[in-house]
Amino acid sequence: MSDVDVIIVGGGVAGLSLGALLANKGKKIMLIEKSNKLGGRGQVWEKDGYLVDFGLHSFRRGRKGEAARIARELGLKLKFCPPGPVKFLDENGFHAFPNGVIGAIKTKLLTAKEKLKFVYQFFFKDLRRMDFDSEDVYRKSVKDYLDEINASENLQRLFRMVSMSAIISEDLEHTSMGELFSVIKALLKARHNVESLKGSWKTLIDLLKETIEKNGGEIVLGKKVDAIIIKNKKAVGVKCGEDEFKARIITCAFPAQHLFNILDESSCPPEFVSKCKNLIPTAGITYDFGLKNKISDMKGVFLTLEPSGMGHFTSNIDPTVAPEGKQLLAYLVLATPEELQDKQKAKELQDLGKRKLFEYFPELEQNIEWERSMILTILDGVELRIDQTIYDRPSLEIPELDNLYLIGDTTNMSACTSGDIAYASALECSKLIEEKLQ
Ligand SMILES: Cc1cc2nc3c(=O)[nH]c(=O)nc-3n(C[C@H](O)[C@H](O)[C@H](O)COP(=O)(O)OP(=O)(O)OC[C@H]3O[C@@H](n4cnc5c(N)ncnc54)[C@H](O)[C@@H]3O)c2cc1C
Repeated sequence: MSDVDVIIVGGGVAGLSLGALLANKGKKIMLIEKSNKLGGRGQVWEKDGYLVDFGLHSFRRGRKGEAARIARELGLKLKFCPPGPVKFLDENGFHAFPNGVIGAIKTKLLTAKEKLKFVYQFFFKDLRRMDFDSEDVYRKSVKDYLDEINASENLQRLFRMVSMSAIISEDLEHTSMGELFSVIKALLKARHNVESLKGSWKTLIDLLKETIEKNGGEIVLGKKVDAIIIKNKKAVGVKCGEDEFKARIITCAFPAQHLFNILDESSCPPEFVSKCKNLIPTAGITYDFGLKNKISDMKGVFLTLEPSGMGHFTSNIDPTVAPEGKQLLAYLVLATPEELQDKQKAKELQDLGKRKLFEYFPELEQNIEWERSMILTILDGVELRIDQTIYDRPSLEIPELDNLYLIGDTTNMSACTSGDIAYASALECSKLIEEKLQ
C-alpha cells in the first residue's frame, strides 16, 4: 500500500511531464507505466550508435514550443537544432516549399495570381482577422474555406501539404479550419516552424525521468493499471492485479479512447463515454533507415504527395543521432486508421512508400545498414477534424468525478497539435492539481 499525492497512469511524454512538474513542486508522485520502457509513442530506440525516434519526430515551434515551455519551468536546458528549408519532392525533383510569406512569394508551386491570393487573402487578411474565439471558425472545414475563396487546384494542393505537415491531416473536407489556422498562426510566430531536439526525444524523456526521481517521485515500470478505484464519485486509488495504490489524485496520461479500459463507464455521463471512445486518431506508416554512407545533404523536411508523406535526414539536422560518417533517414506516410486496419491495403501502401522513397533517393537502396517500418493505427491521438475541435475533445477534468484528470494528446488544448497537446495538457493539469492539493 502506497500513499502519495498523485498517481499518474502512463509514462509517455504527457505523464512524465506532469510527474516532473509536480515532483519539482514538492508533490509526492507515483508514475505507473505498463511497458518496460518510458516514452510511449515518443520512445527512442538505441540501435548500434543510432538514436532512432519512434518514426519521424520533431518539435513544432522548437525552442518556442510547449516542450520547451515545460523545460523552462523545470530549469532544464534543451538544445534545439533548426532544420534547413522545407522541400516538396515529386518526379521532377525538389521544389522550395512556401513556409511563410517570403517563401510564398518566391515559390514556383504557384502562379503570380495564386501567390497574390495566398499571400494577400490568406496571410494578410483572413489569418490575421479570423476570430479564433468563435466556435464557427472551428466548425468550418478547410475545404469550405478554399471553396469560398475560389482556390485554384494548385492552391488546394498547397493547403493539403500545409495541413499535412502542420497537423498531420490531409483530408481537407474534414479538417477544421480553426484548428489548422490557429496552429499555422502559432507556427508563423516562432522563428522556426519546427526543430529537432539534440539527442532525439530521448534527451527530454531522460531529463523528465531524472527530475521525477531526484525529487523523490517513484516510477514503476512493467505494471498495468487495471482499474481506477472510485468511491462516492471520487477517485481514490488504482488497482494493479492484486495490488492497490491510494492517492489523493489520479491522472490518466494516455489517449482518451482507452480511458474506459480502466474506468467504469457507468461513473460518467454516456455522451462523455462515447465522445472519448469514438475519437479518430491520425494514422500512418513509418520508415527508419540507418545508412552506411551519407546519401544526401538535405537538411530540411521533405514533403511528398505520392504517397502523402514527409521525411527528413534526421542526422543532417542533428549529427549526434547517427555514428560518424553514417546517416539516419525517417519517412512517414499518412493513411486513415481504416486503411491500415485492412492488412492487404496497409501492406500495399507500405510497399508503395518504400518504392517511392527509393525512386526519390536512388542511392538509398544500396546503402541500407538496417531498416524498420511500422504500420501505426495511431500517430496523434486525435485528428483535428471539424467534429474533434477544442469544443469537442475531452477536457482535463473528468465530468461528474472528483480528483480524476485526463491528460495527453487527445485533450482540448488550443492552438496546438500532436505532442504539443500532450505537453500543454501536462502543464495546464499541473496547475489544476497544485490548486486542488492546497
Ligand atoms: C510515428 C509518429 C510520429 C510522430 N511525430 C510527432 C512529431 O513530430 N511531433 C509531435 O509533437 N508529435 C508527434 N507524434 C505524436 C506524439 O508522439 C504523441 O502526441 C505523444 O507522444 C503522446 O504522448 P502521451 O504521453 O500523451 O501518450 P502516449 O505516448 O501514448 O503514452 C501513454 C502511455 O501510457 C501507458 N499506458 C496506457 N494504459 C496504461 C495502463 N492501463 N497502465 C499503465 N500504463 C498505461 C502506455 O504504455 C504509454 O506508455 C508522433 C507520433 C507517432 C506515432
